[in-house]
Amino acid sequence: MQPSLFLDRDGVINRRTVGDYVRRPADFEFESGALEALRVLAGLFGRIVVVTNQAGVGKGLMSGADLAAVHRKMLHEVRRAGGRMDRVYHCPHRPDTGCYCRKPATGMALQARADFPDIRFEHAWIVGDSGSDMQFGLTLGMKTALIAGKSEEAQALAGLVVDGRFESLLEFAGYAAKRLVQHL
Ligand SMILES: [Mg+2]
Ligand SMILES: [Zn+2]
Repeated sequence: MQPSLFLDRDGVINRRTVGDYVRRPADFEFESGALEALRVLAGLFGRIVVVTNQAGVGKGLMSGADLAAVHRKMLHEVRRAGGRMDRVYHCPHRPDTGCYCRKPATGMALQARADFPDIRFEHAWIVGDSGSDMQFGLTLGMKTALIAGKSEEAQALAGLVVDGRFESLLEFAGYAAKRLVQHL
């Protein structure tokens, strides 16, 4: 059985907007190599889902419809490039609400497993650029892959124990392809 892949969005799939949110499709810009990476990963992972914290919705900085438009564009481009995302999960809540879905809480993963019962967390990877992504994966028993680049968390991230550190999603895809999927 192929493993599952959980992907953080900002800083992994698309460029982060530091201190702000990707509010409109025009603001959404893929990271270099990300589309190629997603095409490779589509052949390696049975389920590929996105799990993204988007508190800009809860803060009223963007609407749910804005976010849906951003994700429609993302999915369209990914499909056109030969990639696949089985579903995109987002947490719209502000950090201070104590919701069950904002990473590092695990609500989005539990929802994904309810939607796709073939998902096994112990047979899954999380790829993210934040400490909260790595904690999310650790709590669920996933393998953790940290993408470099979140400078404001650099010190905390340097001390984390993770299963792999990569410069980009494309580098992770190359690693996953080499490692042969049955050993992931
Ligand atoms: Mg991120
Ligand atoms: Zn939430």
